[in-house]
Amino acid sequence: MSTTRKRLFIKTYGCQMNVYDSDRMKDVLTPLGYESADTPEGADLVILNTCHIREKAAEKVYSELGRLRPLKDEKAASGGMTIAVAGCVAQAEGAEIMKRAPVVDLVVGPQTYHKLPELIAQAHRAKGEALDTEFEVEDKFDRLGSDRQVEGYSAFVTVQEGCDKFCTFCVVPYTRGAEWSRPVDQIVAEIRALAAKGIREVTLLGQNVNAFHGAPPSGREDEGAWGLGKLVRHVALIGGIERIRFTTSHPRDMDEDLIQAFADTPKLMPYFHLPVQAGSDKILKSMNRQHTAEEYIAIIDRLRAARPDIAISGDMIIGFPGETDADFEATLDLVRRVNYASCFSFKYSKRPGTPGAAMFNQVDEGVKSARLAVLQELLSDQQAAFNESMIGQTLPVLFEKPGRLDGQLHGRSPYLQSVHVEGPAELIGQIGEVRIEAASRNSLSGSLTGSKRSAA
Ligand code: SAM
Ligand code: SF4
Repeated sequence: MSTTRKRLFIKTYGCQMNVYDSDRMKDVLTPLGYESADTPEGADLVILNTCHIREKAAEKVYSELGRLRPLKDEKAASGGMTIAVAGCVAQAEGAEIMKRAPVVDLVVGPQTYHKLPELIAQAHRAKGEALDTEFEVEDKFDRLGSDRQVEGYSAFVTVQEGCDKFCTFCVVPYTRGAEWSRPVDQIVAEIRALAAKGIREVTLLGQNVNAFHGAPPSGREDEGAWGLGKLVRHVALIGGIERIRFTTSHPRDMDEDLIQAFADTPKLMPYFHLPVQAGSDKILKSMNRQHTAEEYIAIIDRLRAARPDIAISGDMIIGFPGETDADFEATLDLVRRVNYASCFSFKYSKRPGTPGAAMFNQVDEGVKSARLAVLQELLSDQQAAFNESMIGQTLPVLFEKPGRLDGQLHGRSPYLQSVHVEGPAELIGQIGEVRIEAASRNSLSGSLTGSKRSAA
């Protein structure tokens, strides 16, 4: 295997699953001598790991490719630059990308990036033929193995991929394929290896993570598939892992065992992302979300009963086809009842090939913008109130790195808030108790209480 040093630049778009995939692409390429670079200038290999969730996603990728062309021309005299398009746009567009942008040497889908070494070799042999967008997820994780390069103290671990829900606004079922869960043993091996490298916090990832149903640990076939609650409790037993999170969950897949995991597993952080998308039953039905607003609220109530300090975050889509003023009011009403610690909100955008895009009753862009502004003001007030409610509390903070000022540390609260505090650098990588003294919309600050919990 060649070990000549080569520069690799990966640009990652979209969700945490793409962040995980980009990290794993680096893992696959390191044995070939690739080292991460911060910019594409002079890189031997540039990978655009794309996301298809937003409107004009493909167009954005083509304009980025246009910007890469002169860099590729410049590099031609010194070894050349290979350009790869990966991720969901690669999956959706396939060979079309190489036709429309000849600057691209290879196209690889989210389920086949473990084959990058072969594809790169193929691209160098026969330009225009290096394309792999099959859905062969099992093979991918077997070939990737559990050894990962890590930085810092927190890592993403994909446990589930794909989605069978077919919400009428969403492209994910078309770009990521059918739902599939990794076997428990494989996940545990990866997390053990991460813990041995100093990782203290893991976020279990899946497009529909609470639909997880992984094969049980070896030799226990009679047991049936494990749900996410059981997996979380098992991960909590891994030495060195102090904090567990998971995302993204679907209300339809919430089961009692997972709710109970919040009550009986202190390492599971009391911060839960449960998108609802809308507060009107008519719109939820048209979105094919398969639950009502009251059912969503009932789940939140059960979670709060199980773990009184739990905070909720969510996702909302404004201006889905057919949304009236009354439907929008129902969304505001649900937001008031849930009282989110944080919530992403998006204007509905048509995704080609999804049922929502073909609906005749699209909402006017101006109306969408006006409604979004009203919703965002409410959500911003809720987030500010949540952060202010931390003042006077003592929170465990995982210190990640030095802060911007001398002698300052930056860490994360259980609710993923940024926390700044004065303290010694030795605390980096550990959890310390911080008394919160001030809060802004995006961060908290305070002072160390003196008690620290070693995370090692
Ligand atoms: N699986 C998750 C769920 O069921 O809620 C969400 C996955 S999706 C990658 C992330 C978020 O993007 C969604 O929750 C939704 O709010 C937003 N989104 C997806 N498609 C959209 C569209 N066509 N227009 C606007 N927002 C969209
Ligand atoms: Fe998309 Fe999530 Fe719906 Fe699946 S459950 S179709 S990923 S929004």
